[in-house]
Amino acid sequence: MFISIDVGGTNTRLASTKNLKDIKEYRTFSTPKDFSLGIKKITNAIEEMALQSQIKAIIIGLPGVIDREKQKLVKAPNLKNWVNKPIVDLLSKKFKCRTLLENDTALGGLGEAVFGAGKKYQIIAYLTLGTGLGGARIVNKKIDQSAQGFEPGHQIVKINGKQCSCGQKGCLEAYISSKAFYQKYKTKPESCTNTKIWAEFSQKFGQGLVNVIALWSPNIVIIGGGFSKKGEMLFNLLKKFVKQNLRIFKTPPIVKSTLCDKSGIYGGFYYLKTHIK
Ligand SMILES: [Zn+2]
Repeated sequence: MFISIDVGGTNTRLASTKNLKDIKEYRTFSTPKDFSLGIKKITNAIEEMALQSQIKAIIIGLPGVIDREKQKLVKAPNLKNWVNKPIVDLLSKKFKCRTLLENDTALGGLGEAVFGAGKKYQIIAYLTLGTGLGGARIVNKKIDQSAQGFEPGHQIVKINGKQCSCGQKGCLEAYISSKAFYQKYKTKPESCTNTKIWAEFSQKFGQGLVNVIALWSPNIVIIGGGFSKKGEMLFNLLKKFVKQNLRIFKTPPIVKSTLCDKSGIYGGFYYLKTHIK
């Protein structure tokens, strides 16, 4: 049995699988801000799912910058208490198996590329907007190589702009995260039906999308995370904005993730399949 864990800034999801393709059992809970509590909830859930069977390998996705050599999370604006904690060590010792670590959004993108909306495409820009704005470039069903990761949420869209939780000023995330949305419009994105608000919002998000397309040159843009549940209205506004403002390239398809909350789980399955011999 294998375990795939997707720790997001808001929710943690876990699934067990036997064939690295289908979910056997699935659990979810809100991500504790405190690491010790988080690791306790994760180990309890794994024990419940595994019962007596031997776990062959675990993949865990974390929301932030990963140091692959040290196998640690080194920067996580939305989950600060988890930074530099020996999560890989703890899990591999506890369950006596190999444990791999990746960025949560990179795994989400991989899931969409292999099992979801990106199946037929070569180069995918995957963005996920909720607590934060994450992103990853997937090429030929592989997380594209990078020296430090992909952080489209922390592209600066305004000089000396709003303070971002990462330490920079004027990051895109500081304007469009669910927290920023609530601060500005005094309503949660999931319950907002005001078209004027969405029109304004899609301009800011659209600006970031144009930049991502210009820099990553994808065949398709896939958007996941809480905001993608807003549906057609937001997507139509976004597509319109990008078409009007991106002139250097033809606008690629901009679509909703099809695996929704489970993109990271499925990406974890495929990651294990290609990284464990
Ligand atoms: Zn930032």
